Amino acid sequence: MAFLKGTKLYSIFTGTCPACQNESMFLKKNPYKLKSTLKMKERCGVCNTKYKIEPSFFYGAMYVSYPVGLTFATAAFILCYLVFGLDLISTYCVIVVVMLFALPIILRISRNIWINIFMPYNKGHLH
Ligand SMILES: [Zn+2]
Repeated sequence: MAFLKGTKLYSIFTGTCPACQNESMFLKKNPYKLKSTLKMKERCGVCNTKYKIEPSFFYGAMYVSYPVGLTFATAAFILCYLVFGLDLISTYCVIVVVMLFALPIILRISRNIWINIFMPYNKGHLH
């Protein structure tokens, strides 16, 4: 993933600070610790960027979670139905299971995308 550093993709996939990409925005790195899936630090410990631009800033990530979720569902569909040749009912079941298991990741990626829409990467930051 290091080759992506400096691009928005790096911050989106790793959940790092959108401005300096040196530190995770999330309190716990593991998204499957469900109590802290969406717990975020208030500011970046490296560059002091405030993540919550305004009080309900991350509600907007909801809109991003639909296309992100749809991407996971589509990938599961292609794999099950087109690649492995499962029937539609089995494919549907697999998609439901995949969505449930991927939910913490979908929620985080949505937040990462959302904040990266508004916050530019700060190339001049020396760290
Ligand atoms: Zn930072």
